[in-house]
Amino acid sequence: MTVQGARPRLPFFPPDLFEADREHLLRIVRDTGTGPAQKFILGEHTAGFEQALREQLGAADVVACGSGTSALTLVLAAMDVGAGDEVVVPAFGCAPLAGSVVALGATPVFADIDPWTMVVDPDDMERRITPRTKALMPAHMFSVMADMPRLTALARDRGLRLVEDSAVAQGGVQGGVPAGLAGEAGVYSFVQVKTFGTAGEGGAVVTRDAELGRTVRMLRNHGQDGVHRFVHHRIGWNSRFDEVLAAFQLHRLPGLADRLERRAMIAGHYTERFADLAERGVLAPPPGRDGRCSYVYTLQCDRRDALKAHLAERGVDSHVYYPLPLPRQPAFSGFAAPGDTWPAAERAGQRILSLPVYPHLSDAQVEYIADTVREFALAP
Ligand SMILES: *Cc1c(COP(=O)(O)O)cnc(C)c1O
Repeated sequence: MTVQGARPRLPFFPPDLFEADREHLLRIVRDTGTGPAQKFILGEHTAGFEQALREQLGAADVVACGSGTSALTLVLAAMDVGAGDEVVVPAFGCAPLAGSVVALGATPVFADIDPWTMVVDPDDMERRITPRTKALMPAHMFSVMADMPRLTALARDRGLRLVEDSAVAQGGVQGGVPAGLAGEAGVYSFVQVKTFGTAGEGGAVVTRDAELGRTVRMLRNHGQDGVHRFVHHRIGWNSRFDEVLAAFQLHRLPGLADRLERRAMIAGHYTERFADLAERGVLAPPPGRDGRCSYVYTLQCDRRDALKAHLAERGVDSHVYYPLPLPRQPAFSGFAAPGDTWPAAERAGQRILSLPVYPHLSDAQVEYIADTVREFALAP
């Protein structure tokens, strides 16, 4: 991964992501595997990890669970979302936004996005509210947080539940409020690519509502209350958290702020270097630090596939999240009314491209990536 030499190789998923913590991870695996308690899930490390996040955020509760997807399902189930209910979600984003709703027997209703920020457009979300609407579920996207102050007001005015899909935005802050705590409940994902990604699967529900937290805690382990084993108060799921990963995430938590700061600096630098490229067909995301959190750095480009090929030829991996709007996916098209359109989501799917933004990119590597994008945009 050097810039010197014939041809750099900058992968989108760097193989040395956890190199600095390798010894620690191996020790945790051995200690957990040989420990007298033989506790591999929901033990003292999970409890310690939940407590550390709760204190850091000032949340009423944090419940670690199997994945970000599962966290969304647990929150919606705790809010009694089910058959006959509609949940308004962004038309552009990852499958769990719609899948979690469908899995509970409810109906996803798709709202279009803002063409530049690519987060859900609150006006379109409002237009799509019906008497059946039970909840709004906006999502933070790429580096931009959804407009939670407006969406919080909208949910309150219309008497709706509000779930914040903050799976990609752990560590982000908007108007002084940490990502995940703007609505009634938010979620985090610990899958590799996210801001607090780990060496496996995991997620969390974060909430200001202790009662909701208690229900989620029950639902993640088959409806048991944590006191009486094999007494099932509700039908739940298996969405328990792994002790090895809990200990590993506890170890990595103190370094998160610095890694996020480095990501923000890299993203800010790209945006500066791309500021004059808009009329050459390369659009950087909106600048600024409030309401931003860089899980990936996503620009928009008129000739996206050509830019991707140009980068690949020069050793820079890039990624297209997401090529299709959710209502155009075979799995969800049945929930789209005939003739309904989401013009901004369609256009984003054709134009987006994500660049590497992981914190241990060197300054020279960042410059090389920026130069390579500029070279493409400025070519005659
Ligand atoms: C990644 C992601 C999820 C799901 O998280 P997993 O841990 O992969 O299940 C949900 N919502 C958004 C917006 C995501 O980006």
